[in-house]
Amino acid sequence: MSTVTAADLEAAIRNVPDFPQPGIQFKDITPVLADPRLFRGAIDLLVAGFPVGSVDKIIGIDARGFIFAAAAAVKLGAGFVPVRKKGKLPWETHEQSYDLEYGSATVAIHTDAVHAGERVLLLDDLLATGGTAAAAIDLLNRLKANIVGAGFLIELEALQGRQRIVGPRVHSLVRY
Ligand code: AMP
Repeated sequence: MSTVTAADLEAAIRNVPDFPQPGIQFKDITPVLADPRLFRGAIDLLVAGFPVGSVDKIIGIDARGFIFAAAAAVKLGAGFVPVRKKGKLPWETHEQSYDLEYGSATVAIHTDAVHAGERVLLLDDLLATGGTAAAAIDLLNRLKANIVGAGFLIELEALQGRQRIVGPRVHSLVRY
């Protein structure tokens, strides 16, 4: 199988206008997931620069982030930790709220999911305004995690989400 490039991923990502509401251009990553070569290539690119053994836990953000984070965790020999929408995790949690265009949202993590000093890599499918990722980073900071990076398949550059991610190195594969 030939090496997958960011251009291959971009060609497969489907733009769906006006979903889930008018004015939103939804980036549909399901064609990437359905293609075994592209899915594997996306994981390889997301963890490039992080050798096996260099990360203790991969943190995935609800819900599409789980797909990439779980596969990346297996590849790097790391654990997987979900950051979930409020009310879904069964054990004790830390919660962090953040503003959306209309209203707010809250994400949560189990209080024992990451131990102080563990090296964690945060992954999600898409970086838009950065509110979700910044909230996840707040949770990880409360657990005193050592955040070694934040990776995204897609970055919507005009929304400047990168500026809200204070601390870890941010990398993205496909930028619009
Ligand atoms: P934000 O907090 O604004 O950075 O939004 C990031 C989250 O919203 C990610 O978990 C994405 O899955 C989702 N998201 C935001 N905008 C889009 C979009 N245009 N297409 C697909 N997913 C999006």
